[in-house]
Amino acid sequence: MSRYQHAIDAWQSTEWSPYFHKVGYVRLAQGKERLEAIDQDFEYFSNDSGQKRGPMVESNLKKSDRALHRMTKDQVDKGDFRTEGLRFPPGCFRRLKSRADIKDILPSLPDEGFQENWQGYLNTHAGYALASESIKATHQKCVELGVKFELGERGHIVELINSTGDPHGDDRDVVAIKAADGTVHQHPPEMGQHLTILSLGAHLPRLLPVASSQVMAKAWSVAHLELSAAEARVLKDAPVMNFSELGFWMAPLWVSGDELRGEDARVVRDNDNDEDQNGRYLLKLAAHGGGWTNFTESSSPPFSASVPPRHPISTIPASDEALLRHLVRTSLPKPLHDRPFIRTSICWCADTPDSEYIIDFVPSVRNVVLAGADSGHAFKMFPIAGGWLKQLVEAGMQQKKRWRWKANGASDHGGAVGSDGPGQSVAWRAGWVRDLKDSGLKREGDN
Ligand SMILES: Cc1cc2nc3c(=O)[nH]c(=O)nc-3n(C[C@H](O)[C@H](O)[C@H](O)COP(=O)(O)OP(=O)(O)OC[C@H]3O[C@@H](n4cnc5c(N)ncnc54)[C@H](O)[C@@H]3O)c2cc1C
Repeated sequence: MSRYQHAIDAWQSTEWSPYFHKVGYVRLAQGKERLEAIDQDFEYFSNDSGQKRGPMVESNLKKSDRALHRMTKDQVDKGDFRTEGLRFPPGCFRRLKSRADIKDILPSLPDEGFQENWQGYLNTHAGYALASESIKATHQKCVELGVKFELGERGHIVELINSTGDPHGDDRDVVAIKAADGTVHQHPPEMGQHLTILSLGAHLPRLLPVASSQVMAKAWSVAHLELSAAEARVLKDAPVMNFSELGFWMAPLWVSGDELRGEDARVVRDNDNDEDQNGRYLLKLAAHGGGWTNFTESSSPPFSASVPPRHPISTIPASDEALLRHLVRTSLPKPLHDRPFIRTSICWCADTPDSEYIIDFVPSVRNVVLAGADSGHAFKMFPIAGGWLKQLVEAGMQQKKRWRWKANGASDHGGAVGSDGPGQSVAWRAGWVRDLKDSGLKREGDN
């Protein structure tokens, strides 16, 4: 079974299904090049049913793999970096060739928005997950199982402490970690062999500078529109709507509480109405593009890499705002066309050139594992990713070559690297990579 199928099965299990909504996924484009990419993917996904494929389809799949991951012909032929078969149940892919096809999926979509010639496909074996709710439930379960969490300054790690005392020496065995409030967290001796697992997302190079040879922090703009209950009900069963040239949006959610102190989210219900003063209806949008880097120099620890700023950014670049406005006017009902964006933010990923994760022991230090390099597509694996870590620790090495720490940095990822470093160019992401210093955004405090 492919890992994608495994993940989607897990999301549909009793444990996870409260957080998963199988509304489908629509991918659309207009330009020739992007339509061709969508056609290739359609063929790739909808043909990959586990049946023996004819030479023509096989050859197209290889081409598609190469296009997706910018691999050399040799790598594809050896199967080294090939994605596992993305096997979907038969019949869940449908081509969308006209406005009528798109309206057929979601009749509530506005006529005025689909005048432009969007085409693509619908995948019904897909949907969205409520990230914060699934993380809260997992936290609760871990606490019940005896996992101890340290949050705030006590949980913010600023240094890996090793046995030699030299933070940059060769023979380093990480025996403890130091938190921002000065607390040193030691591995409990009764638990035997110590191990530190770093799962810090795009922030990783701040703590482990050597990891900047593996991942590059890149960000995308996120914004929300506040809807009335009636507007939210109209869009509540919408598939995830991905417009290649612009960005994507997903069905609105009811959200209560406040962002900083914690909030609850749920799907919109048929009987929701505006009298409920405890929450509001938010529709989330994200802009596409090659991503924003944030190149930063630091002397302690010494590194020069793209990392997220220390203080989150709550505005978005004007060019992304324009893209999102176009997305709203293209695909959402007229009353939303000029509604102001709220809850704007910049959301960070740890990109690798081949979009593969890295789940491996870090070579230059002992007893440290890197679990991350999410490449913008790791949350969907949340219910099963812990199992991959367990396998690694039990086996003592990463058996999947593509998930290893790459000895030669970016060039080992399959050649998909721009001259500026790892993750600079990722084949499936349309658009250029730009740095935040060129975004016109004011960054608060240090970066
Ligand atoms: C706009 C956007 C859209 C996305 N859409 C999708 C999607 O459709 N499907 C999908 O699967 N994925 C999607 N993703 C990607 C998904 O969010 C990531 O793959 C996932 O969150 C990565 O998980 P992670 O645990 O590796 O890193 P993160 O989620 O970044 O978690 C890292 C954690 O480490 C903490 N941390 C950092 N430094 C320290 C430190 N020094 N000490 C202690 N803690 C620290 C951070 O606070 C954070 O909580 C999207 C991302 C973006 C930006």
